[in-house]
Amino acid sequence: MIELQGITKSFGSLQVLRGIDLTIERGEVVSIVGPSGAGKTTLLQIMGTLDKPDSGSIRLNGVEVNRLGEKKLSAFRNKEIGFVFQFHQLLPEFTALENVTIPALIQGVSAGTARKQAQEMLDMLGLSERAAHKPAELSGGEKQRVAVARALINHPSVVLADEPSGSLDTQNKEELHRLFFDLRDKLGQTFVIVTHDEGLAAQTDRTIHLVDGQIVR
Ligand code: ADP
Repeated sequence: MIELQGITKSFGSLQVLRGIDLTIERGEVVSIVGPSGAGKTTLLQIMGTLDKPDSGSIRLNGVEVNRLGEKKLSAFRNKEIGFVFQFHQLLPEFTALENVTIPALIQGVSAGTARKQAQEMLDMLGLSERAAHKPAELSGGEKQRVAVARALINHPSVVLADEPSGSLDTQNKEELHRLFFDLRDKLGQTFVIVTHDEGLAAQTDRTIHLVDGQIVR
């Protein structure tokens, strides 16, 4: 599902990724751990086509993404990749339901269908009662689940999560983690999760240890 070969990336004179080779299978839940500054977020951004490597190739679902033009790449990203960030990044002026519909609307789904799909996604994540609320009226755990619903609305093949539970308390953290595994079992998606949480990392199918821009084990 994800194949990275020889990925390097520098910011100015700082080499952040030093030749990353990594293959992740469909349906795997993989965690990426490592010290602060190791390059975890940069790697996830490159995997998600939000940033470009200096060299190396990236295949996602069989597509060599470096070869796509900007327009095709952005359509591919919106369809195939779901992102979940530490700070949910919901739009404050829209309701939970509206926030979840946005990627579907960008994808060209009609407003009615997008609303129906968003409602189904919120139902599945136990948020039926919260659909009409704006982010400010939701708890931290609820906001993060809305962000997960938004990441999943287009049924992406890959979900990339950067410290998704970083802002949550222990109980919400555990619920969010359980949710990722439930979703993988139900929908078969591939999850890549950057985390500092050793507990979560230990539950994933595989843990990638990144130190100084290299995979050490
Ligand atoms: P991690 O997620 O493991 O903490 P990051 O990938 O965020 O590591 O960052 C790795 C290094 O790259 C850090 O030293 C960071 O300051 C630097 N860095 C990340 N993004 C940028 C950027 N856009 N411009 C310059 N330096 C960056």
